[in-house]
Amino acid sequence: MLPEPITALTAALAKLPGVGPRSAERIALHLVQADSAVVRHLADTLLAARERIRFCEICGALTEKSPCAICDDSRRDGSIICVVEKAVDILSIEKSGTYRGKFHVLGGKISPLDGVEPDDLRIGELEKRLAAEPVREIIIALGTDVEGDATSNYLAKRLARGGLKISRIGFGLPAGSGLEFADELTLNRALEGRREML
Ligand SMILES: [Zn+2]
Repeated sequence: MLPEPITALTAALAKLPGVGPRSAERIALHLVQADSAVVRHLADTLLAARERIRFCEICGALTEKSPCAICDDSRRDGSIICVVEKAVDILSIEKSGTYRGKFHVLGGKISPLDGVEPDDLRIGELEKRLAAEPVREIIIALGTDVEGDATSNYLAKRLARGGLKISRIGFGLPAGSGLEFADELTLNRALEGRREML
């Protein structure tokens, strides 16, 4: 039996994404035997990151200052908004290097089984942007799984209005997966091969 502080630390670490019980225990055992200055630095870094990072009030990206650098960049094409599920998806598309428009983070996908309804997503915020910004095209860049399909179709219907093109990427994306699994070339092709939904 391990001392309680170690089991408590293990339990806390096991709540992190991608950390299973065995890895959590290994990290906990490492930390309690590490130099205390190293552990203090890790704890300080964790807190500082959490305290300094917020969501961009416009697009929902993770940022230190809001509006974020992309929303604030007048050289980017404000007539195109790429809609993604998660804030990290912006990084995937930015890495592909060719997209020069703006972004909007939905914060999830419609999934009645998981209790995620349209109202839980940042769709109202997107509608406000359509009213206020000179947007001519929405590129829906959600995964190709069932929820991604359902959410894309819902968005296309709800956002439809005169003078707005709504397209969806998908061409070449691995079936049933999210953007994080696509490499840069695939994402580039998916963006270029986007298809108009309406
Ligand atoms: Zn932003």
